Amino acid sequence: MLLRHTTKDIADRKALTVNPAKTCQPIGAMYASLGVHGCLPHSHGSQGCYAYHRSTLTRHYKEPVMAATSAFTEGASVFGGQANLVQAIDNIFTVYNPEVIAVHTTCLSETIGDDIPQIIAKARSDGKIPEGKYVFHANTPSYVGSHVTGFSNMTKAMVDYFAETNGKKAKTLNLIPGYVEPADMEEVRRLAETMGIQTVMFPDTSRVLNGPMTGKFKMYPDGGVTIDTLKTAGSSMGTVAMGRIASLAAARALDSKCKVPCQIIDLPIGLHGTDAFVDALRRMAGVNVPDRITYERGQMVDLIADMHQYFHGKRVAIAGDPDQVLAMAKFLVSLDMKPVYMVSGTPAGKKYVKSLEEAVKDLGDEVKIQVPGDMYLLHQWIKNDPVDLLIGNTYMKYIAKDEDIPLVRYGFPILDRVGHSYLPSMGYKGGIRMLEKILDALLDRKDRDSSDIDMELVM
Ligand code: SF4
Repeated sequence: MLLRHTTKDIADRKALTVNPAKTCQPIGAMYASLGVHGCLPHSHGSQGCYAYHRSTLTRHYKEPVMAATSAFTEGASVFGGQANLVQAIDNIFTVYNPEVIAVHTTCLSETIGDDIPQIIAKARSDGKIPEGKYVFHANTPSYVGSHVTGFSNMTKAMVDYFAETNGKKAKTLNLIPGYVEPADMEEVRRLAETMGIQTVMFPDTSRVLNGPMTGKFKMYPDGGVTIDTLKTAGSSMGTVAMGRIASLAAARALDSKCKVPCQIIDLPIGLHGTDAFVDALRRMAGVNVPDRITYERGQMVDLIADMHQYFHGKRVAIAGDPDQVLAMAKFLVSLDMKPVYMVSGTPAGKKYVKSLEEAVKDLGDEVKIQVPGDMYLLHQWIKNDPVDLLIGNTYMKYIAKDEDIPLVRYGFPILDRVGHSYLPSMGYKGGIRMLEKILDALLDRKDRDSSDIDMELVM
């Protein structure tokens, strides 16, 4: 009983979060920065923050995440961090030679009120930024939002700093994939390329955080969008942005800066979610859907038909990032499952909550949604009326253990399993993987609970 303090009685809480369903802004900003080729993320704050951000990403992706810090001590905390950041920029280009430094702030530097664009301008005028190299930034105060907000802010900064247009339109389509695994980014690009579409994807952490073992250490792996490619995003014929909460800001900024029309869709998770993605690509690029993709879709439909009898009516609790929770809820409803409890720690607004309510309005069961909400509340709901399955990150395993409910790990962070960054949950292939994971969890549980005479060899 690790969560023995969780009570059945639910008290109204406004100022207290227990067991949060989110983490801090700079983690998302650091993750987005790693999706730029040759980029060294830089944390403008104290070493403690930076160590936490790096270790969380390293533990999730099982790859050594490189970053730098302004290493604030008492002096910088009182007088501001300008001297530290200018010195850091000089040191980083001299010692580590990245193509670009992505600076994000922390609670401390935001509270001091450091003006990062002014400090970057000073570093440039002092000759600390070599010719052909770049420094860009995002403000990521962690006392608002979450890691998703930080990711969104850094992705928008890529547009603000780099996207440009020469007035001509190229035959490329921008993909803004949202806060998803490197394998998901790889998968959406593969789908677009299978349709014959050239893409500009940003950020792109594939081949950065899920690359192969080569026996050679590379400070800057081969993956990530290059700055030259990022600049061309302003000339693309359109943008498909996946996940409103993580990707909308960058897509809108690109539209207003460079007049690139955008379509905002849910994360392409599940059959209908992926259909919407493929349809958005088809319409924007004016191409046909090739047989290969129709084939993959057909495989997923076949599996759903085979598995449906086990999914029907199963009650599910989901915790995670808003875009993931919404897409997963819609996926589960399409399988005739019942996502009855949903929380996200990221504030996502009334419009988001409405779309979640809309997705589950025909379930027939009482549905509880809290955004922003925490996993303590989710646990209380479960104590009062249990579910058959949990879907969420590693922190959900304590609820799973205490309540003896199977858990499908999904979202961020997953700290106690390996492989998730190599296998997608998006697209038809990713959907097939999720179907297998969900069914395995349900049937493993059924096997475990069956008496000797009820034990079935064939299910
Ligand atoms: S919440 Fe603020 S102080 Fe804490 S690790 Fe994140 S940035 Fe640092």
